[in-house]
Amino acid sequence: MLSDRMQSAINAQINAEVYSEYLYYSMSAYFDSAGLPGMAKWMDCQAQEEHFHAMKLFDYVNERGGRVTLTTIEGPETEWDSPLAVFEGAYAHEQKVTGLINGLMDIALEEKDHGTAQMLQWFVEEQVEEEASATGVVQQLKWIGDSGQGILMLDKELGTRVFTPPAKGE
Ligand code: MG
Repeated sequence: MLSDRMQSAINAQINAEVYSEYLYYSMSAYFDSAGLPGMAKWMDCQAQEEHFHAMKLFDYVNERGGRVTLTTIEGPETEWDSPLAVFEGAYAHEQKVTGLINGLMDIALEEKDHGTAQMLQWFVEEQVEEEASATGVVQQLKWIGDSGQGILMLDKELGTRVFTPPAKGE
C-alpha cells in the first residue's frame, strides 16, 4: 500500500512525464517546420520515451492498489532561436527532471517504501542517460556553430534514432 504522500508525489511525476512528452513533441514540431526532419524524428522518439516513463509510473500506482489522478498539463514552449537553443532547453529540462526523481527517491526512503525506491532506481539510471544524450547533442551543435552543412549532417545522423519500448518489467 502506498502512503498518501508517496502516491501524490508519484501522481505529480506522471504529470511531469506527460509534460515532458508534450515538450518534446513541441520541439519535434519546431524542427519539422525548420526543415530538419532528422532532429524532428529524434524528438519524436524522445517524446515516446517520456510517454513510456509516464505509463511505467501509472502502471506502478495501479499495481500497488493506489489511485492515479491526472491533472492539467501545462503548455510547453513553442518557439526557439536555433537547434542549439532547443537541445540546450532539452538538457536543462532533463536536469530538472533528475531533481524531481531524486526528490521522489528521498520521499520513498523517508517513508521506508523500499518497493517504490526499487522501482525508482530504474528512473535514476534513466536520467543519467537522458542528461548524457541531450548534452552530447549540445556539444556537437557547439562544434558545428553556424555551419549549415554541419547541421544537415547531424540532422541525418539524429534521424537514425528509433524508439524501442523496453520489455515490461525492465
Ligand atoms: Mg522522463
